[in-house]
Amino acid sequence: MARTALIMSDAFKAYNFGKQHPLKPERVLLTWELIKGLHLHENPNCVVMEPRLATEEELELFHDKEYINFVKKVSAALEKGPLPEDLEIGGLKYNLGPGDNPVFPKMHEGSSIVVGGTIVAVDAVYDGVVENAFQAGGGLHHAQADKASGFCIYNDSVIAIKHLLQKHPRENLKVLYIDVDAHHADGVQSAFYTDTDNVLTISLHESGKFLFPGTGFIEEKGIGIHEGYAVNIPLLPYTYDDLYLDIFDDVVPRIVKAFQPDLIVSQNGVDTHCTDPLAQLGLTTKGQREIFKHIHELAKKYCKGKLVAVGGGGYNIAVVPRSWTMLFADLLGVLDQLPATIPADLLQKLNAGRDTDLIPEYFIDPGPSDEIKMRMNDFKFLDEFELYGQEMRYRVNNQILPLIEKHEAARHAQIAPKTMVKKAEKSAKQK
Ligand SMILES: [Zn+2]
Repeated sequence: MARTALIMSDAFKAYNFGKQHPLKPERVLLTWELIKGLHLHENPNCVVMEPRLATEEELELFHDKEYINFVKKVSAALEKGPLPEDLEIGGLKYNLGPGDNPVFPKMHEGSSIVVGGTIVAVDAVYDGVVENAFQAGGGLHHAQADKASGFCIYNDSVIAIKHLLQKHPRENLKVLYIDVDAHHADGVQSAFYTDTDNVLTISLHESGKFLFPGTGFIEEKGIGIHEGYAVNIPLLPYTYDDLYLDIFDDVVPRIVKAFQPDLIVSQNGVDTHCTDPLAQLGLTTKGQREIFKHIHELAKKYCKGKLVAVGGGGYNIAVVPRSWTMLFADLLGVLDQLPATIPADLLQKLNAGRDTDLIPEYFIDPGPSDEIKMRMNDFKFLDEFELYGQEMRYRVNNQILPLIEKHEAARHAQIAPKTMVKKAEKSAKQK
C-alpha cells in the first residue's frame, strides 16, 4: 500500500477568480512544482491521483439545488460572452459578483473538480488504498449551503465528509474536521451544527472580532445532539508560533482523545503566516510545520494515520508552496530528508515571471517579521496574551471538553451492549 496520495491535476487551474484576485491558482500550482522539483511525487510511497468532477447529487449533499443551478447557469452564459444583466443582478442573492466572489468562466466545473478531488482523497484514505492524502486545491471552508462566501463556491470538505457518512451508514463513522486557517471555518461548522454527533469540528483562527467572517467565538459550540461538537478557538492578532502551539497542544489532543475519530480531515490554510496580506496572525513556516506535524501525530495515535489534508487560504506566494511542501513531506514520512534550502535551479524556475513575492531558498523562515519580534519583547503584550491564552484553554477544557466526554460515554454505553450481543450470537453460532 502506498502511504500518501497526492491529488494533482491541471484541471484545478479552472478555479480562477481572475488576475486581481488574491486566491490565485499559482498557490497550488507552485506547490506541486516544488513537490515535483524535489521528486517527492516519485517516492515509492506516493501515488498521484486524478480528481474527478463531483456529481450534482454529491453537491446536493450540502448545497441547495437552486444555488447549484444558478452557478451552472452563470458558467454556461460566460461560455457565450459577457454575463447578461439579469444573471448579474441575480448573483447578488448568492453572494456572486462584485466583491469576494466574482463570477468566472467554468465556475461550476472548476468548483466541482475541487470537490471531486476531496471526495477521491477521503474515499482513498477511508478505504485503505492509502494511509493519508494531500489535496492542495481543497479547503473551501466558507461556502454556505445557499451561497458563495470568502472565495469559496462549493464546500469540498463538507461534501466529502457527508459523502463518506452516506456511503457507510451502518458504521457509525466519526470524522474529525480540524481547521487551522487564519479564518473561521464557518461554512463547515454550519453544515453540522445541529444535526449530528458523527462529525466534530475544531477551528483555530484569528478572532472574528478582527477578521472575516466575524464568527467562530468560543460560545458557538453546537446545538442539540451536536452540543460540544463545534469547538472554536479564536486567537488574537499577532499570535506567534509558541503561543499558538501552547494553546493547540493543551486543548486539541484532549478533544481528539475524547472523540476517538475514525478519520481526520484537516484544513491547512497558511494565511496564519506573519507576512500574509489578508490576516494578522504571526506564525512562521516553522510554526506551521509543527502544527501539521502535531495533527499528523494525532491521526497516527487515534485513527491509524487516516488523515486527509486539504489546502485552504494563504495569500503570500512566497509562503504557500514552502509550507505545503513540508506538510506533504510529513505525510509521506520524508520531512527530515527535505534539503535545508531549495536548489537554485528549481528556485529560479519557481520564481520565473514574477517580480514580487519571490520564494526564498529556505523552507524554515529565519524568524518572524519585525513587528512580531517587537511584540515578543513587549512585556505588556506578553502578559495580555498569556492571560488570554489561559482563558481560552480553561474554557475549552472545562466548558466544552466535558460535553464531548459525557456524550461519548453515553454513546459507548449504547453501542457496547449491541456489540456484546453480536459477539455472543457469533460465539453461539460457532458452538
Ligand atoms: Zn483563510
